[in-house]
Amino acid sequence: MVRLLLSIKADLENVTDLQPASDDFEYFFKVKCTSCNEEHPKLVTLNRLEEREVTTGKGSTAHFVWRCGLCKRESSAKFEPGEKPKPYSADANGQFAPFLTIDCRGLEFTRFDPKGIWKCVGAETGTPFSEVDLEEGEWVDYDEKAALPVGVSNVESKWTRA
Ligand SMILES: [Zn+2]
Repeated sequence: MVRLLLSIKADLENVTDLQPASDDFEYFFKVKCTSCNEEHPKLVTLNRLEEREVTTGKGSTAHFVWRCGLCKRESSAKFEPGEKPKPYSADANGQFAPFLTIDCRGLEFTRFDPKGIWKCVGAETGTPFSEVDLEEGEWVDYDEKAALPVGVSNVESKWTRA
């Protein structure tokens, strides 16, 4: 089993604590089989609230179960139980910060696509922004209370061994 850490970085403009808007956020990952190195051609999705049975382990479950199209081996991945993704703070602005860890058996994730709905708050005002859509990779709005533009851009991510 390999424990992988996903780190993210972004440019935050007058906001902080960027994180998925809900617990049932769909994570879009690119996955690779570690037995034969075959990469799945499409992005796959994982959801912290949905688990599936692992056929090779009696009664065990995982958030992602995959049979490699090439070598036919089954692999799986599981989020840390009870662990929530770590909000990306303005203190880390423009630098990588740990976001989440995941246990992998027989596979590795190679990419993270941040599309979906995130949330954040005004850095000085605490104004909540609950519809931060990163489908296009960036988001802009306006914080009335601070009379300042707010935004998220240049979201990047990397996977490393935890
Ligand atoms: Zn394979």
